[in-house]
Amino acid sequence: MKRALNFYAGPAALPLPVLKEAEKNWLNYNGSGMAVMELSHRSKEYDAIHQKAQDLLRSVLSIPDSYEVLFLQGGASLQFSMVPMNLLTSGKAGNYVLTGVWSEKALQEAEKVGQVCVAASSKEENYRHIPKINEIKLSEDAAYLHITSNNTIYGTQWDHYPTNEAVPLIVDMSSDIMSKRLNIENFDLIYAGAQKNLGPSGVTIAIINKKLLSHSNPSLPTMLNYNTFAKHDSLYNTPPTLAIYLLKLVLEWAEQEGGLSVIEKRNEEKAKILYNCIDESEGFYKGHAEIDSRSKMNVTFTLKDEETSKQFLQQAKEAGFIGLGGHRSVGGCRASIYNAVPVEHVEQLAEFMKTFQYKY
Ligand code: PMP
Repeated sequence: MKRALNFYAGPAALPLPVLKEAEKNWLNYNGSGMAVMELSHRSKEYDAIHQKAQDLLRSVLSIPDSYEVLFLQGGASLQFSMVPMNLLTSGKAGNYVLTGVWSEKALQEAEKVGQVCVAASSKEENYRHIPKINEIKLSEDAAYLHITSNNTIYGTQWDHYPTNEAVPLIVDMSSDIMSKRLNIENFDLIYAGAQKNLGPSGVTIAIINKKLLSHSNPSLPTMLNYNTFAKHDSLYNTPPTLAIYLLKLVLEWAEQEGGLSVIEKRNEEKAKILYNCIDESEGFYKGHAEIDSRSKMNVTFTLKDEETSKQFLQQAKEAGFIGLGGHRSVGGCRASIYNAVPVEHVEQLAEFMKTFQYKY
């Protein structure tokens, strides 16, 4: 079977070996006579999957013991609410750096919970760049600083992260988690929906410094309190078992590939192929993001006018390239090149872009 050239922004391409392994076990997981989604979440078979997924996440991402790994639901969007509900203590302000629609949404949800402050923003420039670290102005009473590490819609990504010992750093890492090596200790809370680099939609990961767990008010609704998940090993209620199984397979794949240093290098190579193609096109393709803010996960570009963009997208579709339409707020095109997108698919796209340019 020919695999699609899948450049969707998420849910997105998954590694082929993961899908094959899941297929092999689809009807009969490990000789149990049951599919994974038929296993009780209290069974020993499922428990082994759950623990292994947690252990692998710890080892692949080098997560220290001083952090909890949580499996949540509700997507990154529910984290926009859970973060302030748990961590925006009264008399303090949630500080947000605005780098796109997702950080705006995070801010809007926090506004419903307590005081907020915009610490920096690149909205005026249609989010073409990531603000410089020295442009971030924290309020005196900052409860935390929230950033979006990769801006899926605009194709921008933080290269260096802000540091401030006194103010916890909270990062929405939905679209670049597990794409490069990181020192987890530079962050206090990382959250991410799984559906870009980690697996299918349905499970949301949180990696939280244990010190932050004492901030949550016990009167919060049980399912919105991080402590519920931490105390019960993310098994307080029924977790998304199938999504966690697939997450485990993706993590095993990442480990077999050689871990984050190999994945990071490959991601750099893929991004370079497409950015070179844009930069060498003499303005035929124009990158949306400023060069020093370019994302290695989502490459956004426009063509000279809407009509040419339309033709590009139409012909790309006919040639088998899926999911290249840009988000409506930026227009043009976007190639999402997450971990599971093979280098060869990116090379084929660059070839297609060059041929299209030559024809016009
Ligand atoms: N943050 C970022 C950076 C995203 O890319 C997305 C989804 N594309 C979200 C948050 C929202 O995630 P979810 O759909 O899992 O709620």
